[in-house]
Parts: sequence; C-alpha cells; structure tokens
Amino acid sequence: MARRFDGEKLVIATHNRGKLVEMEALLRPYRVACVSAGELGLPEPEETGLTFEANAELKARAATMASGLPALSDDSGLCVEALGGAPGIYSARWAGESKDFGPAMERVERELVGKSDRRAYFVAVLSLAWPDGHIESFRGEIHGAVIWPPRGKLGFGYDPMFLPTGHADTFGELDPAIRAQVSHRSIAFRQLMAACFGAPPAP
Ligand code: IMP
Repeated sequence: MARRFDGEKLVIATHNRGKLVEMEALLRPYRVACVSAGELGLPEPEETGLTFEANAELKARAATMASGLPALSDDSGLCVEALGGAPGIYSARWAGESKDFGPAMERVERELVGKSDRRAYFVAVLSLAWPDGHIESFRGEIHGAVIWPPRGKLGFGYDPMFLPTGHADTFGELDPAIRAQVSHRSIAFRQLMAACFGAPPAP
C-alpha cells in the first residue's frame, strides 16, 4: 500500500518551466502549497539513471534531501519506435545546452528518413520522495505518431511534432485543457493522486 501524503507543502523537483506549469495546475485542486526546486535554488542533479524511473527517483531524492520537504519529480521523454526508443531518457539532452527543441525535432525527423514507421509515445514517471527515504513512483504513457513539419506553438519540447492517437491536433495545437486530461504526465499524476492523496477536497 502506498504511503499517504499528509503534509502541507511540497517541492516540485524540476527546473523545467513547462513541467512546472503543468504540475502546479494538476496539484491545484488538492490545495497543497508548492515551491519549485528553482525557487529554492536547489542544484539540478545529474541524470545518471538508465531508465525514466531511475532518473525520476534520483531527482526526487536530491530535492527532498536538500530541502527537508517531500518532493515530487518528473522524468519524461519522447520514445520513437523506429529509433529503438530514442531520444527517450535523452530527450532533454538532444536539445543541447540552449534547450532549443527546433534542432532536436529536426534530428528526430532526420533519423527517421527512409523509415515508414512513425509510431512514438511520451512517457512520464512521477516520483514522490520523503526526507526519511521513502519513495513512490508512477508511470504514464500516451501513444501516437511523430509528424513533419511540426504544428502549433502551445506546450513545450517535442509537442509540435507529436500527434496523439485519436486526435487531429498535435500537442502543440491541442487545447491545453484537453492536453492536461490526456497527457502522459496527467495519467501518471492520476495514479499518484489516487494512491497518495485520495480525492481532492470539495471546492
Ligand atoms: P527530463 O525529464 O528533464 O529529462 O526532460 C524530458 C524532456 O522530454 C523535456 O525537456 C522535453 O523535451 C521532453 N518532454 C517530456 N514531456 C514532454 C511533453 O509533455 N511535451 C513535450 N516534450 C516533453
């Protein structure tokens, strides 16, 4: 049985603005005070894990140890079937130091030249760590295809080239309210909330 979160304050262990915005919105109904790792000036740990789970857990552990507060992290990425799951855990690194996803999306497209299989999926693993070392992790996936050229200016990262199955809009075009319901992060988040937070308090 998962450990329940009964605190009042949570560190969101990310320096990624796109993830922070999405996670704050998902947490809002639960009325938990959130502070980000960036606001606390916590260092960004090196992502040395070889799986999404390992990297999510090392980020949550680093933030809870440094802050003394429970910490929630996310490790996520885009996995392209015909590229053997790349960029996968290296999704952020494909954008380089400048974190420019234009060239990262171009690289995905370049590596797919001559391949007809465009299937891809986003993965998000959320880890909630407590200062005593306890940790809970949850995984969400959304499947679809990568398209070219990219479409839309909403979202972040690889969103403009990801077309979720059953939708006509890419993640870069999709209404943020719909995206928030179907995204890999929201799927993992629903599992986390059911296991560790229960139902949100009545408005
Ligand atoms: P990391 O979890 O900090 O290693 O970064 C994951 C990277 O995957 C992000 O910088 C994005 O490029 C990409 N990514 C993860 N989730 C999403 C998403 O929801 N939309 C678009 N790109 C994403």
